[in-house]
Amino acid sequence: MASPNDQSDSDDREKRMSPRPRLSPREAAVWTVTRLQQAGFAAYFAGGCVRDQLMGREPTDYDVATSARPEEIQRIFPRARAVGESFGVMLVRHGGQTVEVATFRTDGPYSDGRHPDEVHFTDAEHDAQRRDFTINGLFEDPVAGRIIDFVGGQRDLKARCIRAIGDAHERLREDRLRMLRAVRFAARFAFSIDPETADAIREGAGNLKGISRERIGQEIRRMMMNANRAVAAWELQYLGLDELVLGESNRTVAPTRLGQLPEPAAYPTALAAWVFDRHGEGTEADRAARRWRKALMLSNTEYDTLRDCLDYSRALRSAWPRLGVARQKRIAASAPFEQALLLVQTADRQEFIDIRRRVLELEKTGLAPEPLISGEDLIGAGMKPGPRFRRILDGVYDAQLEGQIGSREEALDLAVLIGRTIGASGGKGG
Ligand code: ATP
Ligand code: MG
Repeated sequence: MASPNDQSDSDDREKRMSPRPRLSPREAAVWTVTRLQQAGFAAYFAGGCVRDQLMGREPTDYDVATSARPEEIQRIFPRARAVGESFGVMLVRHGGQTVEVATFRTDGPYSDGRHPDEVHFTDAEHDAQRRDFTINGLFEDPVAGRIIDFVGGQRDLKARCIRAIGDAHERLREDRLRMLRAVRFAARFAFSIDPETADAIREGAGNLKGISRERIGQEIRRMMMNANRAVAAWELQYLGLDELVLGESNRTVAPTRLGQLPEPAAYPTALAAWVFDRHGEGTEADRAARRWRKALMLSNTEYDTLRDCLDYSRALRSAWPRLGVARQKRIAASAPFEQALLLVQTADRQEFIDIRRRVLELEKTGLAPEPLISGEDLIGAGMKPGPRFRRILDGVYDAQLEGQIGSREEALDLAVLIGRTIGASGGKGG
């Protein structure tokens, strides 16, 4: 048998030799199922890919569930590798694709409310029953061309319903992350949550135990990256999950600005819209942003972008019309501008249109033209390099943006003038 090193070598070879996948993800998964069945095992597509296909959506990936044990999978697919943390899940590479193959399993007790303490290998029916929602508990035999439904998933797909498999209270208690998964699937597909499942969520909403902030953050990120983000926000608030998710409670405020956000909106922009919905544009919004940073485990970049979105959009709404040409150009050329403008649009369409028109006007003379001079030029003109260079160059560039100067010579003259002014007013020389 190949050592792990041999295997990654041969994978690298395969990558080099086939820059493009030779098979589609589905073809590779069908091949995998066929090989397993030919070896005498039960093997099906499982979970999300079956659901997506029945809904007429293209699945992102195809998971295979089988009666074959990991060592048997390894024998059939010598190059298969075990997935790190999930015991017994194997990755089969074929045709430039990777297919996840998992042995039918039941989960042991969840003493920590998040991870099963152990897994036991079992049959397809029990494997379906350990899954979260009926629409996620379907199997498909792509060789025989039939759906295998132990949990009523097809009925709930037709009814557009998110329903926990088995006893809802028990299932949500054993893994609290499922509360957020229910909301995410409901919003994404515009399904409703079955009343009993919804009751179980409401009842368990106060109980944080066992969900890590990282996992909460990931779920919220996925909800907010979807076009139905406002439905997710409504649902979270309505089910009383906002307290757990955001560390604050407000069940009645309508996430209207969130719902007005056009695509594509970045995650921090969506959070900014939701912050404004829940807290208005005043200082309470800034306090909330700080709270959400911790609650959602935002990265530094995400938090900085959220802050920029809040600050720039408020500035656009209040100060923009009074700003000079140079300031307006600098803002319009800045990184946060486009997302901040999306936020303005969610508040006031007319303000948004006015700013857009103004930017089109400004673009005619260049929003961010190449500077006429650089620090090198200042040195060439006999100035000593130092901190005041930044102020001089900024002043010259403002004049360029305003259209007051148009040539290198004019720029150099102005630089000398500003340099003297700074020197005369006691600015720190270099
Ligand atoms: P997506 O398109 O978002 O990936 P998915 O249904 O494939 O949707 P995954 O999170 O990839 O969702 O999980 C794959 C399958 O594993 C699910 O369809 C479900 O059957 C099962 N599953 C995932 N998470 C859980 C969970 N927390 N509890 C029970 N079953 C789960
Ligand atoms: Mg998936």
